[in-house]
Order: sequence, then structure tokens, then C-alpha cells
Amino acid sequence: MQYMTMPPGQHRLPPLPYAYNALEPVISERALRIHHDKHHKAYVDGLNKAEINLVKARQNNDYAYIKYWENQLSFNGSGHILHSIFWTIMAPIGTGGQPGPQTTNQIVGYFGTYDAFKEQFETAAEKVEASGWGILIWQPAWRRLEILQCEKHQNLTQWGGIPILVCDVWEHAYYLDYQNKRKEYINAWWDLVNWHEVEKRLLFAMGGQMPLMLVHNGRVNFR
Ligand code: MN
Repeated sequence: MQYMTMPPGQHRLPPLPYAYNALEPVISERALRIHHDKHHKAYVDGLNKAEINLVKARQNNDYAYIKYWENQLSFNGSGHILHSIFWTIMAPIGTGGQPGPQTTNQIVGYFGTYDAFKEQFETAAEKVEASGWGILIWQPAWRRLEILQCEKHQNLTQWGGIPILVCDVWEHAYYLDYQNKRKEYINAWWDLVNWHEVEKRLLFAMGGQMPLMLVHNGRVNFR
């Protein structure tokens, strides 16, 4: 499987892997058309716009709107990634098959039974406050599955991203030494960064795979 580097502002709306009416009667043609063509498209456009504006911010060294564009990056980036996956993990009724051997193995191994998994997933999704997602994740750190509620997917993250370099900016991390001068703490913190470890983490993370399109015979056409 080969990933291409995505240049800033070049994301495109992936076509649905089936017809607009293929998910009826569970999801109507009208609903799917609006969801894909309007809602998902808006995420793609918003993500491109945020990335382009951040390119400009870097060029001009002007970060006056950094909070706005970072929020747009998260909101639209997560929306694009989650919807892309959403389309691929659905199929017309009767064609989706049963949980595969590894899926079953991992579900039963962690949740006990398929029914227990299903009950928790359903309830978690149902009880998400306001808008969001129910999500089954593979946690690479623990080599196992987990079910998460994603309340407002923009919470300054992009699902699927693997942390490479992290800076703790909770007050407990710096208040004794820097009081309210968080910026001073961050400036100083750079001198502590272990880049050897960052490099290793990056190599590990790059071994991870999360295709956003249908996989055919173990291959993904990323175009
Ligand atoms: Mn949606």
C-alpha cells in the first residue's frame, strides 16, 4: 500500500463506492446525496481553505488568526477523514458479509462477545451529547480495539493522527517554574526535545495504515 504525500489545499471529495440509492431503505437516496455532495464536500473545501491560509500565515509570519484556522483545520479535517471512512465501511444490504476472523478475534478478545461489543457501541453512539460519532478504534499503543464517543469531532484533533511530538501545556506542567508565562515555558521547552526519539516515533507511525478509499486485493488506489 502506497501513500502519496498530500500537498496543502489539494484534498478532493472521494466518490461514493456505490450508487446514491444503494443504501436504501436504511439511508435514502436523497439523504445520501445531500450528506455526501453537500456536507462532506463542505468539509473538503473547508480543509483546503484552512491549509492554504496556514501556508500564507507561515509565508507572512502572520499568526493573527491562528486559532481560527487551526479550528477550521481540525473541524474540517476530522469531518473529511471520518466521512471518507464512513462511506467505505457501509455497503448495500446483504453485501457486507460477517465480521472477519481478525475482527471477530479482536472483538471477542477485548469485549467478551460480539453482542457485548454491539451493545456498547450502540449505546455510546446513541448517548453522544449533541453531534458527534461513535467510533471503534485500533489503539496501536495497546494493540487492541476501543470504543470511543467523539463529541464534536473538531476538538482540535484529526482522527487517525498518531502523536509524534507532544507538549504538555496544562498549568501543572509549567506553573511552578513559569507561573502564567506559558509562552516562556514553551520557548524553553524546545531545548528539551529528544529528536532521536521523535525520529523513531515518526518511523513507527509511518508503518501505520489508514486508507480512505476501498481496498481492492490489498491495494488502494490513492490517485
Ligand atoms: Mn456527517
